[in-house]
Amino acid sequence: MSNRLDKVHEVLLMGPGPSCVYPEVYRALARPTIGHLDPLFIDIMDEVKSGLRTLMQTANTATLPMSGTGSAGMEAGFANLLEAGDAVLVLVNGVFGKRMADVAGRLQARVDTLEFDWGTPVAVEAVAEKLADKRYTLVAVVHAETSTGVCNPVAGIGAQVNPTGALYLVDAVTSLGGMPVCMDDWGVDLLYSGSQKCLSCPPGLAPLSASERALAKLKARQTRVPNWYLDLSLLLSYWDGARRAYHHTAPINMIYALHQALQCLLDEGLEQVFERHRRVHRLLVAELGKLGLEMLVAAEYRLPMLNAVKVPLGVDEAGVRARLLARHRIEIGAGLGPLAGKIWRIGLMGHTAREHNVHRLVEALHAEL
Ligand code: PLP
Repeated sequence: MSNRLDKVHEVLLMGPGPSCVYPEVYRALARPTIGHLDPLFIDIMDEVKSGLRTLMQTANTATLPMSGTGSAGMEAGFANLLEAGDAVLVLVNGVFGKRMADVAGRLQARVDTLEFDWGTPVAVEAVAEKLADKRYTLVAVVHAETSTGVCNPVAGIGAQVNPTGALYLVDAVTSLGGMPVCMDDWGVDLLYSGSQKCLSCPPGLAPLSASERALAKLKARQTRVPNWYLDLSLLLSYWDGARRAYHHTAPINMIYALHQALQCLLDEGLEQVFERHRRVHRLLVAELGKLGLEMLVAAEYRLPMLNAVKVPLGVDEAGVRARLLARHRIEIGAGLGPLAGKIWRIGLMGHTAREHNVHRLVEALHAEL
């Protein structure tokens, strides 16, 4: 083995995730590993569930971090709630909406998609029309579309979906911890996220919450959940109730990390955290404007934590990113799919969302452009 790890130095993570990790979270990760059924660990698990409920604004008892990255949350959502032949509507305006449709299709669901231009939000009226046409078992949307920087109107879509009786599934991978997520008020039945964005932990956990309606669908399944590892009914026997049964060995130290990250967020105050994201986003947009750089998304639909910036004509987009990393130790993201080569994605997620980070990036960009 080489001593490669000695070469790992801090990078200012201003891409689409992972984001900068809180120093307190690094310290939490380094605490001694204890057993996954140690009574102290069970107490830590319970506090994590409670913190997640506060963050997601839900009373759901079935709220837990899945072991795996955000995509594990996505798989778990669809695998638990869908059976072969179920009719599903996926609202698509970026990479992650497309991925949802792929995941649902692999479960033999009958998937319809409603597509919107990348860089624009889902139009609630179009969803209402589609729902008037056909009955669905489940409707799915991404709250914060990380591939474009667009915020989708999750509350407005929920108001259309709920009266139809369909389950409502929302991806909050990029939004959770950086902007309000009101699962119960928005009528969301299953919501999942990821630890490495606005929660400022390393990647590896996918917080997930399921409503009573979602659990009722799970109970009423004709067929078993096709995926043993992500089967919520099995996982809940480990994460919930007075007696806990082994399912899989929880990633103990990552749970410490999430516990600490939730503590950091709640200590700062959720409103203060959200306001910090908005303030730092406004600063970034203003400073980029001074460099002559424009945003992809119209102001009213922009996410504070993911900023899609148009690459000026004639600029070597990959070259700028490479120089930012090599010379300034700053990472920003590239465009995906149809936006590849056309935008940079600048993340202001969690602990990254600080004024001094914006100034450091803008200075570096100034030098490299
Ligand atoms: N959903 C959204 C909106 C995302 O931004 C991402 C990752 O960037 C994912 C899902 C998948 O998460 P992961 O890469 O952690 O598996």
